[in-house]
Amino acid sequence: CGIVGYAGTAPAQSTAASAGQRALEVIVEGLRRLEYRGYDSAGIAVVGADGIAMRKKSGKLVKLLEELALHPLPAATAGIGHTRWATHGGPTDANAHPHVVGGGSLAVVHNGIIENYSGLKADLLERGHSFASETDSEVAATLLGEIYASLGADGGDADGAADGPVAGGGRLASAMRLVGQQLDGAFTLVATHVAEPGVVVAARRNSPLVVGLGDGENFLGSDVSGFIDYTRRAVELGQNQVVSITGTSVEITDFYGTPAQGREYLVDWDS
Ligand code: GLU
Repeated sequence: CGIVGYAGTAPAQSTAASAGQRALEVIVEGLRRLEYRGYDSAGIAVVGADGIAMRKKSGKLVKLLEELALHPLPAATAGIGHTRWATHGGPTDANAHPHVVGGGSLAVVHNGIIENYSGLKADLLERGHSFASETDSEVAATLLGEIYASLGADGGDADGAADGPVAGGGRLASAMRLVGQQLDGAFTLVATHVAEPGVVVAARRNSPLVVGLGDGENFLGSDVSGFIDYTRRAVELGQNQVVSITGTSVEITDFYGTPAQGREYLVDWDS
């Protein structure tokens, strides 16, 4: 239902001692702002020094905050957050997002409905994948992990063959474009991978996604309220596009790697 993504400056390179906590703070505040949309579960994942760290809880945001107080997340440069409105699978902890797949290497959140998830799930099961939830979202996440694993380090096929224009971000962005081509329905997907710690990649079709432009940090939101406390400079993603953000870059392409130009606007908001 609600999505937040954040990419900032690597704690090691930052002069601010608390830089590593910034990602978490921004994501929690973003989820708080998005509560008005309604939701039944909430979760956050970051890439810390020891890989992906994830906390998620069914119920209100306060449940997630209690969990975070008991089991704090590590310092991180980037992360993703989600408030869920269940469509496939009940409002349980296991069905809450993020979904961590690929042996703990990849965390994914999803808004919307993947219409062709049952066929994709059957294929993935046949290829030996297993699932921890009943959601359509974990199917998209698992497919993204499988495609990521099949790509070379530069985002091209493992065989090194050229795939046409490869533009905008790295391997995770390439994998996201290929997933976007395969999914039907409505989705905003946002992902982060252990091998690309400062990067957050997102795709959208029939579901909204806005980029917030900051100074040494960039944001993603299912709407501008996900980052309005931090910046008013926004870029709305077009239909069937992928965006890759770091603290200092925003790269947008379509699902085939052709660069796209987002139009920047200033959010007019009083609150
Ligand atoms: N269809 C997904 C699920 O049931 C995402 C729902 C949402 O947009 O929050 O988990």
